[in-house]
Amino acid sequence: MAKKEVMRCSFCGRAEDEVKLMMPGYNGCICNDCAEMAYNIAKEQLSKNEMAALDDINLEQIPKPTQIKEYLDQYVIGQESAKKYLSVAVYNHYKRLSQSKDDIDIEKSNIIIVGPTGTGKTLLAKTIAKLLKVPFAIVDATVLTEAGYVGEDIESLLVRLLQACDYNVKEAERGIVFIDEIDKIARKSDNPSITRDVSGEGVQQGLLKLLEGSVVNVPPQGGRKHPEQKMIPVDTKNILFICGGAFEGIERKIALRLNTHVVGYGAGNHVSKADQEKLLHYVAPQDLRSYGLIPEIIGRLPVVTNLEPLDRDALRRILVEPKNAIVKQYEKLLAMDGIKFNIDDDALDFVVDKAIEYKLGARGLRSIFEAIMMDVMYNYPSMKKKSFKLSVKYAQEQLEKSNFAAIASAM
Ligand code: ADP
Repeated sequence: MAKKEVMRCSFCGRAEDEVKLMMPGYNGCICNDCAEMAYNIAKEQLSKNEMAALDDINLEQIPKPTQIKEYLDQYVIGQESAKKYLSVAVYNHYKRLSQSKDDIDIEKSNIIIVGPTGTGKTLLAKTIAKLLKVPFAIVDATVLTEAGYVGEDIESLLVRLLQACDYNVKEAERGIVFIDEIDKIARKSDNPSITRDVSGEGVQQGLLKLLEGSVVNVPPQGGRKHPEQKMIPVDTKNILFICGGAFEGIERKIALRLNTHVVGYGAGNHVSKADQEKLLHYVAPQDLRSYGLIPEIIGRLPVVTNLEPLDRDALRRILVEPKNAIVKQYEKLLAMDGIKFNIDDDALDFVVDKAIEYKLGARGLRSIFEAIMMDVMYNYPSMKKKSFKLSVKYAQEQLEKSNFAAIASAM
């Protein structure tokens, strides 16, 4: 009887019984160990190539600020000034990364966006991330506390960024981090000085280190650093930071400053011109300082912009205009069952009115819509209907039936 030929790995030469797994190919074999090694080499080489591609960022291929803004316009309603500032900041970030080494060093312009919750801060950050060719992470400042307290170390903010690029440190070092709820680490002025301020100055000092640009040791899993853990050193010099916060009540500080200004110079009444709602438009670094951010941090966030509160018109546009507007999503959902969806104008107005009445803002639009559409989504797919028209009467009935008022008060 012919002896069965022993399969040998074409790379290491070991026989089939010396390895865990042998995989035959077209003209040879590979063992599990060599396959794993080949995978790692390929991964490393490919990411090096990608980085080399990143190294020479070609500004010609990067969207211009006006194009970045046009892209944002497709998803975010209003917020013109924030969109403009963001577009310029991102474009300049690419310029910094591709700048030639000479005497002029383009410094980074970290941004701070001030605006009420639910007006599009996170949406802006997420939308811009889709367009970027550098790693991007959204993190939350509320988890941070000073060393020694329950919470996370400042350096953990960079873990998300590392994760976004598969722990490729070189790539992370040119990324963008969006820090949300930055106002939560403001120093509370009424905090008695003898008790240490957990969420205040110490955290801000730590954050300053990141914003200024230094090599920091990042715990690979986030959370607290501990001695046994192997740290990843990350240089933050080229990382762009975009900070966002609601800064609730900052309007009072702005009003106060504008008033003083008027008294001091006697030139026209700024406050009466600045209608209460629009005060945020005048937000300036001094206001962030009176709110409790330390001057050094403010100095490292040279670009201050704001988000406007969303009025009735903006909320209505949010329902129908963005590329993935709620109404478009429902059209798509129903179309998948062959049902054409129409909505009356006054039904749209009704949804907007309810979002305002329950003080839910843009965030509430979806929950109101869900409550109204629940029965349709449940029944129609099995009813063989070809169309559904949402009238204001139906919307009212469904919302009452769903007991939304009670749910909204708990939101
Ligand atoms: P925040 O300012 O608190 O970060 P978000 O960006 O998370 O608010 O907004 C919550 C939701 O409200 C978003 O997912 C989006 O559906 C909607 N939204 C808020 N502002 C806008 C806007 N300007 N344009 C379009 N949709 C918006």
